[in-house]
Amino acid sequence: MIFRQLFEPVSCTYSYLLACPDTGACAIVDPVIDTAERDLQVLHDLGLTLTYTLDTHIHADHLTGARKLKRLVGSRICGPAMDHLPCTDVGLREGEPLRVGSIELWPLFTPGHTATHHCYRVDDGAHALLFTGDALLIDACGRTDFQGGDAATLYRSIHDKLFTLPDETLVYPGHDYEGRFVSSIAQEKTRNPRLKDNLPLAAFVALMNGLDLPYPRKMDFAVPGNQDCGRCPPDVPAEFRAPCDAHDQG
Ligand code: FE
Repeated sequence: MIFRQLFEPVSCTYSYLLACPDTGACAIVDPVIDTAERDLQVLHDLGLTLTYTLDTHIHADHLTGARKLKRLVGSRICGPAMDHLPCTDVGLREGEPLRVGSIELWPLFTPGHTATHHCYRVDDGAHALLFTGDALLIDACGRTDFQGGDAATLYRSIHDKLFTLPDETLVYPGHDYEGRFVSSIAQEKTRNPRLKDNLPLAAFVALMNGLDLPYPRKMDFAVPGNQDCGRCPPDVPAEFRAPCDAHDQG
């Protein structure tokens, strides 16, 4: 499997490029509109063409690159089927893998950060990789205070769906704000300050409900924009418009 971890520094978002070396089929998990051209350059340098984009959830802190990449290179837009977005080409469901050449991406329904969040798991025989979106971050987890988020639901998703995976499974998060790249299920079980020592559900809920985090700067346009697979709404503030104005949004 060909694999690249790509970073968007404004929202500290990781996107993940996965490709099948035999067929050249390729997917990007959680692309960002701001870095669509950079991602295509990486693909070009690797001699790959983009087949699919997948989003883990409807992001509030950045616009997805799904629509822009589709317009530029004809990739198909994949995302959780339960979002029922008319712009999605392939609806993903737990238990039904998306095949990218010889690679199988297995969706896992992991609500709590948002009501319809999914992680994606890949096992190519040599490595087991888990793209955790914002359900599980390195030493943290996604916030649970909007978009149908719920701390108790996230706790159950992490414990029942993620911590039951093999300990050596590599955890590739949707964001990191401190320059970390990768973790593992074993490490998050034992070291994540919000989860370690089998922190009880009630303590996790109290911790999450007490975070008092600031309102996301891009949320008011990012959520409606991502409900249309990354179309820039007309009210995007001037400071964030650059990736919108660079191209027709059709
Ligand atoms: Fe998020």
